[in-house]
Amino acid sequence: MTIARNTLLWISENRKLRQTLPKYKFIRKAVSRFMPGEKLEDALRAAEILRQQSITTVFTHLGENVTDEGDARAVAEEYVDSLEEIHKRKLETSISVKLTHLGLDLSQELCLRNLMTIVERARALGNEVWIDIEQSHYVDRTIATYKTVRHQYPKVGLCLQAYLHRTEKDLEDLLPLSSAIRLVKGAYKEPASIAFKRKSDVDANFFRLAMRMLENSKQGASLAIATHDMQLIRRLIGEAQRLGLSKGDYEIQMLYGIQTGEQLRLAADGYRMRILISYGLYWFPWYVRRLAERPANVFFVLKKLFA
Ligand SMILES: Cc1cc2nc3c(=O)[nH]c(=O)nc-3n(C[C@H](O)[C@H](O)[C@H](O)COP(=O)(O)OP(=O)(O)OC[C@H]3O[C@@H](n4cnc5c(N)ncnc54)[C@H](O)[C@@H]3O)c2cc1C
Repeated sequence: MTIARNTLLWISENRKLRQTLPKYKFIRKAVSRFMPGEKLEDALRAAEILRQQSITTVFTHLGENVTDEGDARAVAEEYVDSLEEIHKRKLETSISVKLTHLGLDLSQELCLRNLMTIVERARALGNEVWIDIEQSHYVDRTIATYKTVRHQYPKVGLCLQAYLHRTEKDLEDLLPLSSAIRLVKGAYKEPASIAFKRKSDVDANFFRLAMRMLENSKQGASLAIATHDMQLIRRLIGEAQRLGLSKGDYEIQMLYGIQTGEQLRLAADGYRMRILISYGLYWFPWYVRRLAERPANVFFVLKKLFA
């Protein structure tokens, strides 16, 4: 399983394959399981359907590692447009951005400028902005950028990865800011020197970090448990009850198209359920990371090839 995961993660980062593979029709068909479509309108329609099931949403416009200043600025403008559209339709939909999509590879100042364009609009509309976390070499710059923005606007949240050894320390550092943290297991290929490799170790660290957040939620920490691991979710729900927290004191987040039955059940049981909906043309690396999370998904792709 590790070999399959590593191969898929290698494919997701290979420049040539990133350009050629998305052209195959069967791959384009297979991706529709994880995203409602390439356009903002597709995401908006999906959010409207989920709203009817008491599920809130968060949009991400797919893209990463932008190397042109104008392109990075255009991404910020597109996010501003999506905030306007969300507001117009009165959706409970926030947005989630990747800093390398906003130009972090070019310069931190440029990225911060683009992020602030989005955050200023979100502030005017009363919406919230999440910051994704990418490969480990971006973590310091992502946290520094988050802190700068968080001081100016409180409704900005940050994603942290439970597979990194450093995350425990990062979380302690962020707790005094009353941060909103989306805790995930982590989706990239990282070396054993800095990341837990065994699933059981990642899960144990996820549980520890989530508990730290829940214990601090009365002091302002706000946790989004972002996983499809129902065993972990049920365990954390039990611990939250034991701590005297209500269902509204934390949020559960999942990705569009994964564990859909559980998403509906949790929402029907009164939990705050938020689904991350991705859209955009640049879906290939993101999609291959979804395959790597569950290599059995590759059979689904092959089925589309032979269909
Ligand atoms: C809202 C949200 C935001 C995220 N943002 C980031 C981010 O910014 N940075 C980052 O590194 N990672 C991010 N991730 C991805 C995350 O790191 C994991 O890679 C991903 O969530 C899979 O791990 P898991 O927690 O579901 O646990 P796992 O132990 O991998 O999975 C638990 C169970 O969920 C199901 N499942 C999980 N993944 C899939 C899949 N792809 N297809 C089908 N079934 C599946 C399977 O039944 C599996 O047994 C995000 C995830 C979510 C839900």
